[in-house]
Amino acid sequence: MKIAVVGAGIIGITTAYELARDGHEVTVFEKRGAAAEESSFSNAGVLSPGYVTPWAAPGMPWKVLRQMASSHAAFRLNFPLSGADIAWLWRFWRACNLPAYQSHRSALQQMAFYSRSQLHAITERHGLEYDRAEGYLIALRTEKDRALVQPSLQVLRDLGVPFSELDEAGAREIEPAINTDTRFAGAIHLAQDEVANCRQFALLLKDECRRLGVQFEFNTSVQKLQIAGTHAAQSATLLVADIQPQSQLSSLLPNTHPASEAGREINFDAVVLCTGVQAASLVAKLGVHLPLRPVYGYSVSAHVKEPLNAPRSGLMDERYKVSITRLGQRVRVAGSAQVGGRAGEMNRAALKTLYKVLHDWFPGAAVMSQGVQEWQGARPMLANRPPVISRVAMGSAVWLNLGHGSSGWALSCGSARLLADQISKRQPAIDSQAYAL
Ligand SMILES: Cc1cc2nc3c(=O)[nH]c(=O)nc-3n(C[C@H](O)[C@H](O)[C@H](O)COP(=O)(O)OP(=O)(O)OC[C@H]3O[C@@H](n4cnc5c(N)ncnc54)[C@H](O)[C@@H]3O)c2cc1C
Repeated sequence: MKIAVVGAGIIGITTAYELARDGHEVTVFEKRGAAAEESSFSNAGVLSPGYVTPWAAPGMPWKVLRQMASSHAAFRLNFPLSGADIAWLWRFWRACNLPAYQSHRSALQQMAFYSRSQLHAITERHGLEYDRAEGYLIALRTEKDRALVQPSLQVLRDLGVPFSELDEAGAREIEPAINTDTRFAGAIHLAQDEVANCRQFALLLKDECRRLGVQFEFNTSVQKLQIAGTHAAQSATLLVADIQPQSQLSSLLPNTHPASEAGREINFDAVVLCTGVQAASLVAKLGVHLPLRPVYGYSVSAHVKEPLNAPRSGLMDERYKVSITRLGQRVRVAGSAQVGGRAGEMNRAALKTLYKVLHDWFPGAAVMSQGVQEWQGARPMLANRPPVISRVAMGSAVWLNLGHGSSGWALSCGSARLLADQISKRQPAIDSQAYAL
Protein backbone atom coordinates (compact mmCIF):
# COMPACT_ATOMS: atom_id res chain seq x y z
CA MET A 1 0.00 0.00 0.00
CA LYS A 2 1.03 3.60 -0.53
CA ILE A 3 0.90 5.12 2.96
CA ALA A 4 1.49 8.64 4.31
CA VAL A 5 2.66 9.14 7.89
CA VAL A 6 2.04 12.67 9.16
CA GLY A 7 4.49 13.73 11.88
CA ALA A 8 8.11 12.68 12.50
CA GLY A 9 8.17 12.59 16.29
CA ILE A 10 9.04 9.33 18.01
CA ILE A 11 5.57 7.95 17.20
CA GLY A 12 5.73 8.86 13.49
CA ILE A 13 9.27 7.55 13.01
CA THR A 14 8.60 4.19 14.69
CA THR A 15 5.32 3.90 12.73
CA ALA A 16 7.05 4.61 9.40
CA TYR A 17 9.70 2.03 10.28
CA GLU A 18 7.22 -0.78 11.04
CA LEU A 19 5.11 -0.02 7.95
CA ALA A 20 8.20 -0.05 5.73
CA ARG A 21 9.30 -3.36 7.25
CA ASP A 22 5.93 -4.76 6.22
CA GLY A 23 6.69 -3.78 2.63
CA HIS A 24 4.54 -0.66 2.31
CA GLU A 25 5.59 2.38 0.29
CA VAL A 26 5.85 5.05 2.99
CA THR A 27 6.21 8.85 2.85
CA VAL A 28 6.60 10.89 6.05
CA PHE A 29 5.47 14.54 6.12
CA GLU A 30 6.90 16.74 8.86
CA LYS A 31 6.50 20.47 9.21
CA ARG A 32 9.76 20.91 11.12
CA GLY A 33 13.15 20.64 9.43
CA ALA A 34 14.15 17.37 11.15
CA ALA A 35 12.74 14.43 13.14
CA ALA A 36 11.92 14.69 16.87
CA GLU A 37 11.92 18.49 17.07
CA GLU A 38 8.73 18.85 19.14
CA SER A 39 7.61 16.77 22.16
CA SER A 40 10.17 14.03 21.42
CA PHE A 41 13.09 16.47 21.50
CA SER A 42 14.30 16.58 25.09
CA ASN A 43 12.10 14.38 27.28
CA ALA A 44 13.38 12.66 30.41
CA GLY A 45 14.10 9.42 28.54
CA VAL A 46 12.67 7.15 31.24
CA LEU A 47 11.63 3.64 30.17
CA SER A 48 9.94 2.17 33.22
CA PRO A 49 7.00 -0.01 32.08
CA GLY A 50 5.79 -0.85 35.60
CA TYR A 51 5.67 2.85 36.43
CA VAL A 52 3.71 3.83 33.32
CA THR A 53 0.38 4.70 34.90
CA PRO A 54 -2.49 7.10 34.10
CA TRP A 55 -2.44 10.47 35.78
CA ALA A 56 -6.22 10.30 36.15
CA ALA A 57 -6.30 8.23 39.36
CA PRO A 58 -8.60 8.03 42.40
CA GLY A 59 -7.77 10.85 44.81
CA MET A 60 -5.67 12.71 42.23
CA PRO A 61 -7.81 15.92 42.04
CA TRP A 62 -7.42 16.48 45.80
CA LYS A 63 -3.71 15.67 45.70
CA VAL A 64 -3.30 18.24 42.94
CA LEU A 65 -5.37 20.89 44.75
CA ARG A 66 -3.48 20.38 48.03
CA GLN A 67 -0.06 20.97 46.49
CA MET A 68 -1.00 23.77 44.08
CA ALA A 69 -0.19 26.55 46.54
CA SER A 70 3.40 25.27 46.87
CA SER A 71 6.04 27.13 44.85
CA HIS A 72 7.43 23.73 43.81
CA ALA A 73 4.10 22.21 42.77
CA ALA A 74 4.35 19.24 40.40
CA PHE A 75 1.04 20.17 38.77
CA ARG A 76 0.29 23.77 37.70
CA LEU A 77 -2.69 25.55 36.19
CA ASN A 78 -1.69 28.49 34.03
CA PHE A 79 -4.53 31.05 34.14
CA PRO A 80 -6.57 32.12 32.26
CA LEU A 81 -7.55 28.63 31.11
CA SER A 82 -9.16 28.22 27.70
CA GLY A 83 -12.57 26.58 27.27
CA ALA A 84 -10.78 23.54 25.81
CA ASP A 85 -8.53 23.30 28.89
CA ILE A 86 -11.53 23.48 31.23
CA ALA A 87 -13.36 20.80 29.22
CA TRP A 88 -10.21 18.63 29.38
CA LEU A 89 -9.90 19.08 33.16
CA TRP A 90 -13.56 18.15 33.58
CA ARG A 91 -13.06 14.90 31.62
CA PHE A 92 -9.83 14.21 33.54
CA TRP A 93 -11.64 14.69 36.86
CA ARG A 94 -14.47 12.36 35.77
CA ALA A 95 -11.88 9.66 34.93
CA CYS A 96 -10.38 9.73 38.44
CA ASN A 97 -12.28 6.65 39.63
CA LEU A 98 -11.02 3.14 40.35
CA PRO A 99 -12.58 1.14 37.47
CA ALA A 100 -11.50 3.71 34.83
CA TYR A 101 -8.03 3.93 36.37
CA GLN A 102 -7.54 0.16 36.47
CA SER A 103 -8.55 -0.45 32.86
CA HIS A 104 -6.50 2.56 31.65
CA ARG A 105 -3.48 1.40 33.64
CA SER A 106 -3.59 -2.18 32.38
CA ALA A 107 -3.78 -0.93 28.76
CA LEU A 108 -0.77 1.36 29.30
CA GLN A 109 1.30 -1.28 31.03
CA GLN A 110 0.49 -4.00 28.49
CA MET A 111 1.75 -1.61 25.80
CA ALA A 112 4.77 -0.44 27.78
CA PHE A 113 6.11 -3.97 28.38
CA TYR A 114 5.46 -4.96 24.76
CA SER A 115 7.10 -1.73 23.62
CA ARG A 116 10.23 -2.37 25.65
CA SER A 117 10.72 -5.77 24.00
CA GLN A 118 10.17 -4.17 20.57
CA LEU A 119 12.67 -1.39 21.36
CA HIS A 120 15.29 -3.92 22.37
CA ALA A 121 14.65 -6.00 19.24
CA ILE A 122 15.03 -2.96 16.95
CA THR A 123 18.16 -1.81 18.77
CA GLU A 124 19.75 -5.24 18.41
CA ARG A 125 18.60 -5.79 14.81
CA HIS A 126 20.36 -2.64 13.58
CA GLY A 127 23.09 -2.34 16.21
CA LEU A 128 21.83 1.14 17.15
CA GLU A 129 24.04 3.03 19.55
CA TYR A 130 22.40 5.79 21.55
CA ASP A 131 22.88 7.14 25.06
CA ARG A 132 21.29 4.77 27.57
CA ALA A 133 21.82 3.47 31.09
CA GLU A 134 20.28 0.64 33.11
CA GLY A 135 18.29 0.93 36.34
CA TYR A 136 15.86 3.47 37.79
CA LEU A 137 15.69 4.71 41.36
CA ILE A 138 12.54 6.20 42.93
CA ALA A 139 13.92 8.40 45.71
CA LEU A 140 11.74 8.82 48.81
CA ARG A 141 12.45 11.91 50.89
CA THR A 142 10.38 10.91 53.91
CA GLU A 143 8.57 7.94 55.46
CA LYS A 144 5.36 9.62 54.27
CA ASP A 145 6.63 9.32 50.67
CA ARG A 146 7.38 5.64 51.36
CA ALA A 147 3.81 5.10 52.56
CA LEU A 148 2.41 6.88 49.49
CA VAL A 149 4.25 4.60 47.01
CA GLN A 150 2.88 1.38 48.56
CA PRO A 151 -0.04 1.06 46.07
CA SER A 152 2.43 1.41 43.16
CA LEU A 153 4.61 -1.31 44.70
CA GLN A 154 1.60 -3.61 44.93
CA VAL A 155 1.04 -3.02 41.20
CA LEU A 156 4.66 -4.00 40.52
CA ARG A 157 4.23 -7.17 42.63
CA ASP A 158 1.03 -8.06 40.75
CA LEU A 159 2.87 -7.59 37.44
CA GLY A 160 5.82 -9.67 38.64
CA VAL A 161 8.24 -6.74 38.16
CA PRO A 162 11.31 -7.22 40.36
CA PHE A 163 12.24 -4.27 42.58
CA SER A 164 14.11 -3.69 45.83
CA GLU A 165 13.15 -1.45 48.73
CA LEU A 166 16.27 0.30 49.97
CA ASP A 167 17.24 2.45 52.91
CA GLU A 168 19.41 5.53 52.44
CA ALA A 169 22.68 3.58 52.50
CA GLY A 170 21.36 1.05 49.98
CA ALA A 171 20.27 3.85 47.63
CA ARG A 172 23.72 5.45 47.88
CA GLU A 173 25.29 2.16 46.76
CA ILE A 174 23.23 2.32 43.55
CA GLU A 175 23.86 6.05 43.01
CA PRO A 176 27.07 6.91 44.91
CA ALA A 177 27.05 10.55 43.75
CA ILE A 178 23.89 11.47 45.73
CA ASN A 179 24.50 14.65 47.73
CA THR A 180 26.00 13.69 51.10
CA ASP A 181 24.14 16.62 52.74
CA THR A 182 20.73 15.29 51.65
CA ARG A 183 19.03 13.03 54.18
CA PHE A 184 16.22 10.84 52.85
CA ALA A 185 14.12 7.84 53.82
CA GLY A 186 15.27 5.46 51.09
CA ALA A 187 14.42 4.42 47.56
CA ILE A 188 12.82 1.83 45.31
CA HIS A 189 15.22 0.36 42.79
CA LEU A 190 13.99 -1.04 39.48
CA ALA A 191 17.05 -2.79 38.08
CA GLN A 192 15.40 -3.84 34.79
CA ASP A 193 14.25 -0.34 33.88
CA GLU A 194 16.38 2.07 31.91
CA VAL A 195 16.85 5.59 30.63
CA ALA A 196 17.66 6.32 27.00
CA ASN A 197 17.83 9.26 24.63
CA CYS A 198 14.56 9.39 22.67
CA ARG A 199 15.70 11.93 20.08
CA GLN A 200 18.92 10.09 19.28
CA PHE A 201 16.97 6.87 18.81
CA ALA A 202 14.47 8.64 16.53
CA LEU A 203 17.26 10.08 14.36
CA LEU A 204 19.01 6.71 14.07
CA LEU A 205 15.75 4.94 13.23
CA LYS A 206 14.99 7.61 10.61
CA ASP A 207 18.21 6.54 8.85
CA GLU A 208 17.09 2.90 9.01
CA CYS A 209 13.72 4.00 7.55
CA ARG A 210 15.55 5.64 4.64
CA ARG A 211 17.43 2.37 4.02
CA LEU A 212 14.05 0.62 3.87
CA GLY A 213 12.91 3.11 1.21
CA VAL A 214 10.88 5.57 3.32
CA GLN A 215 10.70 9.05 1.74
CA PHE A 216 10.86 12.04 4.09
CA GLU A 217 9.36 15.42 3.24
CA PHE A 218 10.59 17.80 5.94
CA ASN A 219 9.50 21.46 6.11
CA THR A 220 6.17 20.26 4.75
CA SER A 221 2.90 20.87 6.50
CA VAL A 222 -0.20 18.77 5.94
CA GLN A 223 -2.99 21.29 5.81
CA LYS A 224 -5.99 19.24 4.78
CA LEU A 225 -7.09 15.65 4.55
CA GLN A 226 -9.77 14.55 2.08
CA ILE A 227 -11.34 11.11 1.88
CA ALA A 228 -12.52 9.62 -1.41
CA GLY A 229 -13.96 6.30 -2.57
CA THR A 230 -16.57 3.94 -1.25
CA HIS A 231 -16.96 2.74 2.32
CA ALA A 232 -15.30 -0.55 1.32
CA ALA A 233 -12.31 0.98 -0.51
CA GLN A 234 -11.35 4.44 0.61
CA SER A 235 -8.34 6.50 -0.34
CA ALA A 236 -7.08 9.77 1.10
CA THR A 237 -5.77 12.95 -0.47
CA LEU A 238 -3.40 15.18 1.45
CA LEU A 239 -3.08 18.86 0.73
CA VAL A 240 0.50 19.69 1.69
CA ALA A 241 2.33 23.02 1.71
CA ASP A 242 6.06 23.61 1.72
CA ILE A 243 7.42 25.70 4.54
CA GLN A 244 10.20 28.25 4.18
CA PRO A 245 13.39 26.78 5.68
CA GLN A 246 13.77 28.14 9.18
CA SER A 247 16.52 30.30 10.46
CA GLN A 248 18.54 28.85 13.35
CA LEU A 249 16.86 31.25 15.75
CA SER A 250 13.25 30.68 14.75
CA SER A 251 13.73 26.91 14.84
CA LEU A 252 14.03 27.22 18.61
CA LEU A 253 10.42 28.39 18.75
CA PRO A 254 7.65 26.02 17.72
CA ASN A 255 5.57 26.83 14.65
CA THR A 256 7.02 30.22 13.83
CA HIS A 257 7.78 29.45 10.19
CA PRO A 258 5.29 30.58 7.57
CA ALA A 259 3.96 28.07 5.04
CA SER A 260 4.37 29.08 1.40
CA GLU A 261 1.21 29.79 -0.61
CA ALA A 262 1.42 26.89 -3.08
CA GLY A 263 -0.13 23.60 -2.01
CA ARG A 264 0.20 20.14 -3.56
CA GLU A 265 -2.37 17.36 -3.56
CA ILE A 266 -1.08 13.80 -3.14
CA ASN A 267 -3.14 10.58 -3.06
CA PHE A 268 -2.52 7.68 -0.72
CA ASP A 269 -4.19 4.35 0.03
CA ALA A 270 -3.91 5.14 3.74
CA VAL A 271 -2.82 7.99 6.01
CA VAL A 272 -1.55 7.61 9.59
CA LEU A 273 -1.75 10.71 11.78
CA CYS A 274 1.11 10.85 14.31
CA THR A 275 0.79 14.58 14.83
CA GLY A 276 1.08 14.66 18.64
CA VAL A 277 -0.56 17.66 20.29
CA GLN A 278 -1.38 19.22 16.93
CA ALA A 279 -3.79 16.46 15.92
CA ALA A 280 -7.04 18.05 17.04
CA SER A 281 -7.75 20.26 14.01
CA LEU A 282 -7.02 17.54 11.41
CA VAL A 283 -9.07 14.88 13.18
CA ALA A 284 -11.96 17.22 14.04
CA LYS A 285 -12.57 17.63 10.30
CA LEU A 286 -13.06 13.85 10.15
CA GLY A 287 -15.75 14.12 12.80
CA VAL A 288 -13.47 12.75 15.54
CA HIS A 289 -13.28 14.79 18.74
CA LEU A 290 -10.49 13.58 20.99
CA PRO A 291 -10.06 15.00 24.52
CA LEU A 292 -6.44 15.80 23.60
CA ARG A 293 -4.61 18.81 25.11
CA PRO A 294 -0.99 19.78 25.56
CA VAL A 295 0.20 19.29 29.14
CA TYR A 296 3.42 21.28 29.23
CA GLY A 297 6.55 20.05 30.94
CA TYR A 298 10.13 21.29 31.13
CA SER A 299 13.62 19.91 31.06
CA VAL A 300 17.09 21.29 31.67
CA SER A 301 20.07 19.52 30.08
CA ALA A 302 23.70 20.26 30.85
CA HIS A 303 27.08 18.67 30.24
CA VAL A 304 28.48 16.38 32.90
CA LYS A 305 31.05 18.27 34.94
CA GLU A 306 32.52 15.40 36.88
CA PRO A 307 31.29 11.84 36.13
CA LEU A 308 31.88 10.80 39.74
CA ASN A 309 29.40 13.47 40.86
CA ALA A 310 26.74 12.63 38.25
CA PRO A 311 23.98 10.01 38.37
CA ARG A 312 24.83 6.65 36.82
CA SER A 313 21.32 6.20 35.43
CA GLY A 314 17.90 7.67 36.38
CA LEU A 315 16.54 8.96 39.68
CA MET A 316 12.99 10.14 40.24
CA ASP A 317 12.22 12.46 43.15
CA GLU A 318 8.84 11.06 44.18
CA ARG A 319 7.86 14.19 46.14
CA TYR A 320 8.36 16.67 43.27
CA LYS A 321 7.77 14.20 40.40
CA VAL A 322 11.03 15.33 38.85
CA SER A 323 13.46 12.92 37.22
CA ILE A 324 17.21 13.29 36.85
CA THR A 325 18.73 11.16 34.12
CA ARG A 326 22.18 10.52 32.81
CA LEU A 327 22.24 10.51 29.02
CA GLY A 328 25.82 9.93 27.92
CA GLN A 329 27.83 13.05 28.65
CA ARG A 330 24.71 14.97 29.69
CA VAL A 331 22.57 15.22 32.78
CA ARG A 332 18.89 15.98 32.20
CA VAL A 333 16.39 17.04 34.83
CA ALA A 334 12.74 16.99 33.76
CA GLY A 335 9.28 17.40 35.20
CA SER A 336 6.26 19.65 35.87
CA ALA A 337 2.77 19.24 34.47
CA GLN A 338 1.14 22.47 33.37
CA VAL A 339 -2.35 22.80 31.94
CA GLY A 340 -2.89 26.12 30.15
CA GLY A 341 -0.27 28.48 28.80
CA ARG A 342 1.27 28.56 25.38
CA ALA A 343 4.01 26.83 23.40
CA GLY A 344 7.25 28.78 23.71
CA GLU A 345 6.22 30.47 26.99
CA MET A 346 8.68 29.21 29.61
CA ASN A 347 7.42 28.94 33.18
CA ARG A 348 10.32 30.19 35.32
CA ALA A 349 8.82 28.77 38.54
CA ALA A 350 8.70 25.28 37.01
CA LEU A 351 12.31 25.60 35.86
CA LYS A 352 13.34 26.77 39.33
CA THR A 353 11.95 23.53 40.77
CA LEU A 354 14.06 21.52 38.31
CA TYR A 355 17.24 23.37 39.36
CA LYS A 356 16.35 22.89 43.04
CA VAL A 357 15.81 19.13 42.67
CA LEU A 358 19.03 18.72 40.70
CA HIS A 359 20.90 20.62 43.39
CA ASP A 360 19.29 18.58 46.20
CA TRP A 361 20.45 15.27 44.71
CA PHE A 362 23.49 15.88 42.50
CA PRO A 363 24.88 19.38 43.17
CA GLY A 364 28.18 18.99 41.35
CA ALA A 365 26.97 16.88 38.45
CA ALA A 366 26.70 19.36 35.62
CA VAL A 367 28.34 22.45 34.17
CA MET A 368 25.75 25.15 34.82
CA SER A 369 27.74 28.16 33.61
CA GLN A 370 27.48 27.44 29.87
CA GLY A 371 25.80 25.14 27.34
CA VAL A 372 22.67 24.67 29.47
CA GLN A 373 19.55 23.85 27.43
CA GLU A 374 16.16 24.79 28.91
CA TRP A 375 13.27 23.19 27.07
CA GLN A 376 9.50 23.27 27.14
CA GLY A 377 7.66 20.25 25.72
CA ALA A 378 3.97 19.48 25.31
CA ARG A 379 2.75 16.03 26.31
CA PRO A 380 -0.06 14.97 23.92
CA MET A 381 -2.39 14.01 26.75
CA LEU A 382 -5.80 12.37 26.43
CA ALA A 383 -7.89 13.21 29.49
CA ASN A 384 -9.47 9.87 30.13
CA ARG A 385 -8.09 7.06 28.00
CA PRO A 386 -4.97 5.29 26.69
CA PRO A 387 -3.55 6.32 23.29
CA VAL A 388 -5.65 5.84 20.19
CA ILE A 389 -3.99 3.29 17.89
CA SER A 390 -6.74 2.58 15.48
CA ARG A 391 -8.62 3.30 12.31
CA VAL A 392 -10.91 6.34 12.43
CA ALA A 393 -13.87 4.14 11.41
CA MET A 394 -14.50 0.77 9.72
CA GLY A 395 -13.16 0.90 6.16
CA SER A 396 -11.63 4.35 6.60
CA ALA A 397 -8.30 5.20 4.95
CA VAL A 398 -7.28 7.25 7.99
CA TRP A 399 -5.49 5.76 11.00
CA LEU A 400 -4.47 7.38 14.27
CA ASN A 401 -1.44 6.78 16.50
CA LEU A 402 -2.02 9.57 18.98
CA GLY A 403 -2.23 10.69 22.60
CA HIS A 404 0.72 8.95 24.29
CA GLY A 405 0.83 11.60 27.01
CA SER A 406 3.65 11.39 29.52
CA SER A 407 4.98 8.06 28.18
CA GLY A 408 5.26 8.39 24.40
CA TRP A 409 8.88 7.21 24.32
CA ALA A 410 8.09 4.19 26.52
CA LEU A 411 5.05 3.28 24.38
CA SER A 412 6.35 4.12 20.91
CA CYS A 413 7.82 0.91 19.47
CA GLY A 414 4.90 -1.26 20.60
CA SER A 415 2.29 1.25 19.41
CA ALA A 416 3.92 1.37 15.99
CA ARG A 417 3.98 -2.43 15.66
CA LEU A 418 0.35 -2.69 16.76
CA LEU A 419 -0.72 -0.11 14.19
CA ALA A 420 1.28 -1.78 11.38
CA ASP A 421 -0.20 -5.18 12.27
CA GLN A 422 -3.72 -3.77 12.01
CA ILE A 423 -3.02 -2.13 8.63
CA SER A 424 -1.47 -5.35 7.30
CA LYS A 425 -4.43 -7.35 8.71
CA ARG A 426 -2.07 -9.44 10.84
CA GLN A 427 -2.98 -10.79 14.29
CA PRO A 428 -1.31 -8.35 16.74
CA ALA A 429 0.80 -9.74 19.59
CA ILE A 430 -1.29 -7.77 22.10
CA ASP A 431 -5.01 -7.07 22.38
CA SER A 432 -5.81 -3.98 20.28
CA GLN A 433 -9.25 -3.32 21.76
CA ALA A 434 -8.12 -0.96 24.53
CA TYR A 435 -6.62 1.45 21.98
CA ALA A 436 -9.57 1.50 19.55
CA LEU A 437 -11.56 4.66 18.98
C1 LIG B 1 9.11 17.27 30.14
C2 LIG B 1 8.71 15.97 29.48
C3 LIG B 1 9.27 14.79 29.93
C4 LIG B 1 8.90 13.58 29.34
N1 LIG B 1 9.49 12.43 29.77
C5 LIG B 1 9.17 11.24 29.20
C6 LIG B 1 9.79 10.04 29.63
O1 LIG B 1 10.65 10.05 30.49
N2 LIG B 1 9.41 8.88 29.03
C7 LIG B 1 8.45 8.82 28.07
O2 LIG B 1 8.12 7.74 27.61
N3 LIG B 1 7.84 9.96 27.62
C8 LIG B 1 8.18 11.16 28.17
N4 LIG B 1 7.56 12.31 27.75
C9 LIG B 1 6.48 12.21 26.77
C10 LIG B 1 6.98 12.07 25.33
O3 LIG B 1 8.00 13.02 25.09
C11 LIG B 1 5.82 12.27 24.35
O4 LIG B 1 4.75 11.42 24.68
C12 LIG B 1 6.25 11.93 22.91
O5 LIG B 1 7.38 12.67 22.55
C13 LIG B 1 5.12 12.21 21.93
O6 LIG B 1 5.60 11.87 20.64
P1 LIG B 1 4.76 12.19 19.33
O7 LIG B 1 5.52 11.64 18.19
O8 LIG B 1 3.35 11.80 19.54
O9 LIG B 1 4.73 13.80 19.28
P2 LIG B 1 5.82 14.81 18.69
O10 LIG B 1 7.17 14.41 19.07
O11 LIG B 1 5.37 16.18 19.06
O12 LIG B 1 5.68 14.61 17.13
C14 LIG B 1 4.57 15.10 16.39
C15 LIG B 1 5.14 15.67 15.10
O13 LIG B 1 4.08 15.96 14.20
C16 LIG B 1 4.43 17.13 13.48
N5 LIG B 1 3.19 17.68 12.92
C17 LIG B 1 2.07 18.03 13.61
N6 LIG B 1 1.12 18.47 12.77
C18 LIG B 1 1.65 18.38 11.52
C19 LIG B 1 1.14 18.70 10.23
N7 LIG B 1 -0.12 19.17 10.07
N8 LIG B 1 1.95 18.49 9.16
C20 LIG B 1 3.22 18.00 9.31
N9 LIG B 1 3.74 17.69 10.51
C21 LIG B 1 2.96 17.88 11.60
C22 LIG B 1 5.07 18.01 14.53
O14 LIG B 1 5.87 19.02 13.95
C23 LIG B 1 5.87 16.99 15.35
O15 LIG B 1 7.20 16.87 14.89
C24 LIG B 1 7.92 13.55 28.31
C25 LIG B 1 7.38 14.75 27.84
C26 LIG B 1 7.76 15.95 28.42
C27 LIG B 1 7.17 17.23 27.90
